[in-house]
Amino acid sequence: MFTSDAEATDEWGPPMNAAQPPPLLYDLEREELAEFLSDEPKYRVDQLWEGLYRDALLPAEISNLPKRLREELTDALPTGCELARESVADDGDTVKFLWSLADQATVETVLMHYPGSSASAARSTVCVSSQAGCAMACSFCATGQAGFERHLSVGEIVEQVLRAQRRSGDRRVSNVVFMGMGEPMANFDATWMATKRLHEAVGIGARHITISTVGLIPGIRKLTEAELPVSLAVSLHAADDDLRNELVPLNRKYPLDQLMDACGEYFGRTGRRLTFEWALISGVNDRYEDADRLADRCRPTSAHVNLIPLNPTPSYGVPGSSRNRVHAFANRLRHRGVNVTIRDTRGSDIDAACGQLSTAHSLGRAGGKSPSGDTTSDRTRSVQITERRQ
Ligand code: SAH
Repeated sequence: MFTSDAEATDEWGPPMNAAQPPPLLYDLEREELAEFLSDEPKYRVDQLWEGLYRDALLPAEISNLPKRLREELTDALPTGCELARESVADDGDTVKFLWSLADQATVETVLMHYPGSSASAARSTVCVSSQAGCAMACSFCATGQAGFERHLSVGEIVEQVLRAQRRSGDRRVSNVVFMGMGEPMANFDATWMATKRLHEAVGIGARHITISTVGLIPGIRKLTEAELPVSLAVSLHAADDDLRNELVPLNRKYPLDQLMDACGEYFGRTGRRLTFEWALISGVNDRYEDADRLADRCRPTSAHVNLIPLNPTPSYGVPGSSRNRVHAFANRLRHRGVNVTIRDTRGSDIDAACGQLSTAHSLGRAGGKSPSGDTTSDRTRSVQITERRQ
């Protein structure tokens, strides 16, 4: 459906087909799997497809396939994610995976369980990575500080969700957010194909799939045209160009007025809710004047704001805002008519945010030290942390 858009891909990373590893099991579309099974009865394709995606099974576990075929599939079509490390926090409600890919690139995925309440049903959300590393270079982001490595393939994105589903057991993954490592709009084609697979084959509601972007306008335009009503989040962090240029270098190419126009068009054409993300940084973007500017930016699209205190990262010296400041900022926005959610800092004890575990791992200090230098056990004795290495 989408033609490759040079602006959205090439300029912010190598071309999509550069140095891609050989096809993985989950890279194949249904027609390609059917071709692979062309000597088998037709119904085998349904059995395999449903086993892989609806039931999150590996080929070897799909018991209605003949053993011979299971072995053939296992040998011919490798999976892409090998577990390098798993960390558990929040009494088991947050699980963070660090995967080692075929070329040794590492990416992370976070599974978060949320209990139901009188107002909302229980849900299980998977936060996926779309790239190994990231070329956007946002100053406060651990992934941005580490630089770009490569795009992930469709299969590598989808597999993250399936592996999380296997870990999740009876609790069905209900939501997927593209808020792990990477800029999904810079890897649009793979992100979009993965989104469609998650919707059509895994059965995740389109509105429960959120694509988060730092503001790549060509990607926002493609979402505006897309027939699947997925949700869009835009990482704003600043509502004036001077500050945003500093925090989010991409703003120099797509400044705020243009970004807001693209958001306005998205909202006007689709009517779908738009979310602005705002990592609160002490003394940088948490003043009342910042809240007032943000409220002005929200008005035209009735955008919802997601606030999160900045997680400390190795190369950014400024701390996140205090709890009091986060609440004061939220109230200021609310008084100006903005819908605000304060995102809980799930799994921050296990660096379950924004490239931090992977960074710690590659720095060779993945043994529970946080970027701030405290040991996890010192910081939160109440949180159960278990780690498994393969
Ligand atoms: N590149 C995409 C998606 C990945 S980042 C984007 O920018 O939206 C997911 C979210 O985490 C973004 O809102 C990002 O700004 C935020 N983030 C990155 N580093 C962070 C940090 N150190 N503390 C809090 N949020 C952070």
